[in-house]
Formats: sequence, C-alpha cells, structure tokens
Amino acid sequence: MPDPEQSNKELQKVLIEKALEARQWAYAPYSQYPVGAALLADSGKIYSGANIENAAYPDSICAERVAVFTAVHQGERKFQAIAIATDNGGMPCGSCRQVLAEFGLDTRMIIVNEKGEVRVDLPLAELLPMAFTPQELKR
Ligand code: ZN
Repeated sequence: MPDPEQSNKELQKVLIEKALEARQWAYAPYSQYPVGAALLADSGKIYSGANIENAAYPDSICAERVAVFTAVHQGERKFQAIAIATDNGGMPCGSCRQVLAEFGLDTRMIIVNEKGEVRVDLPLAELLPMAFTPQELKR
C-alpha cells in the first residue's frame, strides 16, 4: 500500500519543480521578479504559469492567475494544490488568493524560494480568512 506521507512529499516535489521551471517563462522586465506557478487540478493535470508584465503596469498579471485561468479555460474547476516559486519565497497577492478562492478554500498553497525551499504549505483558507466566496451571492 502506498504511504500517503510519501506520496504527499512526492507530489510537493513535482509541483515545486514545475513552479521553478515555469519561472523561465516570466516576462518581468520592470520588477525583475520572475514568478512561476504550478497548479494541480482534480483531474491530475498540472497547469503552469509565469508572471507577464506590461509597460502599463496595472495590465500585468501574476503567475498564479495565468495558471488558474489556463486551467479553467481547459474545463478545470477544482484544484488540489498550487506551488508558487519566487526568488525569496514571496507570498501570493490578494488578487490571486481571491481568484483561487472562487474554486475552493481547500487548495493547498506551497510557497517556495528559488532553491525550492518551502516557506509555507497551508490551505488557502488560512491565507485568506473570511474569504468572499460564491456562497456570499446565494440568497
Ligand atoms: Zn498575484
């Protein structure tokens, strides 16, 4: 029987590798802060993303949202985990937390630095307490 602790570690390792790999596709000429994300959907597929900046700064988009939007566009609606890689293990912004919250607060958030060292490994609910979710719109 597979050891759940072991498969958990292996999953974490794969996602971290993919997030680190995704950083190479970042377009970050302004911040010089490449970010990579790897999102594991319930289907078992992994979707990656990198930040894409723009000379009109607000039109830039984070790696996490690139991954989520790519996955949603492929029909995914449930996510198990996302690994996010930056130079220093920076935390995801509020917009990305909110976009992820749309699809569930159980998504495991694995935040790593450029060496793949884990800074945070927590469910989204803990990174976005009292989140505004689709439930709020139900009357
Ligand atoms: Zn963000």
